[in-house]
Amino acid sequence: MKRTLLTLVICAAAAACSGSDEAAQAPPAQPAASPGAQVTANIDQNAILERIKVLASDEYEGRAPGTKGEDLTVKYLIDESKTLGLQPGNPDGTYVQKVPLVGITGAEARPLTVTKGTQKKTYKWADEVVAWTRRVAETASIEDSDIIFAGYGVEAPEYNWNDFKGVDVKGKTIVVLVNDPQVPSAADSSQLDDTLFNGKAMTYYGRWTYKYEKGAELGAAGVLVVHETGPAGYPFEVVQGFLGERFGLIADDKNMSKAAVEGWLSLDAAKDLFAMAGQDFDALKKQALSRDFTPVPLGLKASLGLRNTMRTIDSQNVIAKVDGSDARLKDEYVIYSSHWDHLGVVPPVDGDRIANGALDNASGVATLLEIGRAFAQAQPKPKRSILFLFVTAEEQGLLGSAHYAENPLYPLEKTVANINIDGVNQWGRTNDLTVVGMGASDLDDYLRDAAATQNRTLNPDPESEKGFYYRSDHFNFAKVGVPALYTDTGTKFVGKDDAFSKTKRDEYTANDYHKPSDEIKADWDLSGAVEDAKLMFLVGYNVANADRMPEWKPGNEFRAKRDAMMKK
Ligand SMILES: [Zn+2]
Repeated sequence: MKRTLLTLVICAAAAACSGSDEAAQAPPAQPAASPGAQVTANIDQNAILERIKVLASDEYEGRAPGTKGEDLTVKYLIDESKTLGLQPGNPDGTYVQKVPLVGITGAEARPLTVTKGTQKKTYKWADEVVAWTRRVAETASIEDSDIIFAGYGVEAPEYNWNDFKGVDVKGKTIVVLVNDPQVPSAADSSQLDDTLFNGKAMTYYGRWTYKYEKGAELGAAGVLVVHETGPAGYPFEVVQGFLGERFGLIADDKNMSKAAVEGWLSLDAAKDLFAMAGQDFDALKKQALSRDFTPVPLGLKASLGLRNTMRTIDSQNVIAKVDGSDARLKDEYVIYSSHWDHLGVVPPVDGDRIANGALDNASGVATLLEIGRAFAQAQPKPKRSILFLFVTAEEQGLLGSAHYAENPLYPLEKTVANINIDGVNQWGRTNDLTVVGMGASDLDDYLRDAAATQNRTLNPDPESEKGFYYRSDHFNFAKVGVPALYTDTGTKFVGKDDAFSKTKRDEYTANDYHKPSDEIKADWDLSGAVEDAKLMFLVGYNVANADRMPEWKPGNEFRAKRDAMMKK
């Protein structure tokens, strides 16, 4: 049922843009006039596989940032780019962009203590509270900081929703709920209101990283998210895993603009804390599902001290380029991205310690190189320029792409689109292709046209509630306003029954995802990946030749950013 609703929303969005309105006139390419088909016919399955063999070899040690694996990977990507005829992508004439990272291991210096007058309560580190700081500093703390319950911690103008309502949270500690508001439909309370926060699908506002960013923007000293397994999508153990070393970017201000303390409360700890304030957690949680919610000062004060151990790593994004052919449009860019990093050397599983990351993401990088080759050889050359960005530290929180988005080598307003590849289809050809976050931008229309040349159709993400649109590198482009496309393997495999897709996907998640066994398998069939790569090429090629830049669809949460950027 939920799926039906989602599909309706997507159809509605598609209908809105296939009518006679503006978006419909966006130039979905003319594949017949483009050389796309000829050029992509050169996408070479063996070349992709050979590159995966190199990148996922034990010699590359799982490609962790700051290790010998990084040195080898970066060198390989530069050498391959040169061999394939790609130009240096950095305007300084090199193939790299430096990405300074800091690894911070936090520890509790003083426990989380909450007071109400003379009453005092201490919460247990790791069991009840998980906290850290992203500030590059030896210590960080909150001291007698007023605690305010700020609902979902969301300010979403397109939904006319603001959980802060102008309440000053500067220097205070906000406690917020996980995920985005799951507002029941007025007509049928067993369903979600699809006009708010995309119904069941997760929006950016549901990501915990958003809540920390929003809190920092408003000057909060502390931001604590209440963990609940259902809406979070994972148990508290996953949150506890954040207590090890964490990598981050280093801003000029040493990240002092971030909240001093970010963290999570267990559900039990939160209920206990609300009870201490004389409030009922479940009742307030219910209130927070309304647009009329106003923040609730809990009459409590929080103190917590953190101590950091730090190390810095000079990591690198690799960037290559094919110059556009049009005198005016060559200063505009389509950026393909794919993360080169993986987890490195990890605790052994069956005696194997190297997380080779063959699928995640040697396969994406190998495929993007092949798309690069197709562009280098394309005739005629695309009008706009094409960038191939191989980013670092995706596995540490999308850091390489965040660094690029915050320090772009080319103006973002001249960056027309991002197309991201993270993992490719290794199970053979499909009749469809999954679009993560389908309906987000005009790029879907380009993809639909491209797919039609292969008699294939598009499919929405079957797990949209997990927020995959916010979990790979294209998201950092979306966040700064650049329309971004991210696809996943289709679900209808040629010659296979309907269950095949889910079986394979579940097998991969259970057995190989982020494990040393993510290696090249004897049963891999990259014929589907080759077809997908041709589509990715065509989308980029046609966007690069189009009269107009692609746009976010009306109502999308990133559209306002883009509009503001283009007005400048
Ligand atoms: Zn990945």
